[in-house]
Amino acid sequence: MAERPFIVGNWKMNGTRAMLSEARAIDRGAQRLMKVEVALAPPHTLIHAVHREAEQIGVGAQDCHAEPDGAHTGDVSATMVADAGAKFVILGHSERRQDHGETSKLVRSKAQAVFDAGLKVILCCGETEETRDAGKAEAFVTRQLRDSLPTEVEQVGERLSVAYEPIWAIGTGRTPTVEDVAAMHNAIRALLVELYGEEDGAEIRILYGGSVKPDNAAELLAADNVGGALVGGASLTAESFLGIVIAAAELQDR
Ligand code: PEP
Repeated sequence: MAERPFIVGNWKMNGTRAMLSEARAIDRGAQRLMKVEVALAPPHTLIHAVHREAEQIGVGAQDCHAEPDGAHTGDVSATMVADAGAKFVILGHSERRQDHGETSKLVRSKAQAVFDAGLKVILCCGETEETRDAGKAEAFVTRQLRDSLPTEVEQVGERLSVAYEPIWAIGTGRTPTVEDVAAMHNAIRALLVELYGEEDGAEIRILYGGSVKPDNAAELLAADNVGGALVGGASLTAESFLGIVIAAAELQDR
């Protein structure tokens, strides 16, 4: 990994202010593990509180609306999450695509809105088990990304990360083989180079997500073109999340 690995916790719809102590402990741990870039995406209600606690870690949002403001009851814009302290937004997570019917076209307009607000994007993609079993995983994921990624983005290399998250691996304890992860990340890298050119395309970090735990992080993070991890369940406690960050730091020493 050329750059610092990027380890991002996605708290999903978990966490009240009682969980700020975990965020504080994660931040303290990250201060001792500076070879790794660590970030948390808490629910919207905690972004500002985590931002205030955080001295080292980055704070982001799990979604936002495509419009900057207006009559959209219950929604939150990129400008608003930025105002609360977010520096990035996760977009296109399979739970949003499934639970809220988000299309790749919508994800692309949200990504444009996030970039326009001066924030970074972590754009998620991933196939179902059925698609993988049919041997169509790479074709599906590259199509999904092609349709979800905005094409005109300034400094895209440092502002965009892609998270490959096979849907069947999320929250299940199952992971693809390291060979399958590497093959998918290589296919994604080729697409990013095609879309954004050699330099930017090579710089964009491609994170792996789906049942990453302290005991499997090292082998997944060592795979070709894996620049970090997007972590759900194991990011909810400082103990397990920092176990993953430590695995990433140890790889940097190799
Ligand atoms: C996720 O949904 O982003 C995720 C990676 O979840 P988990 O780590 O729990 O599989």
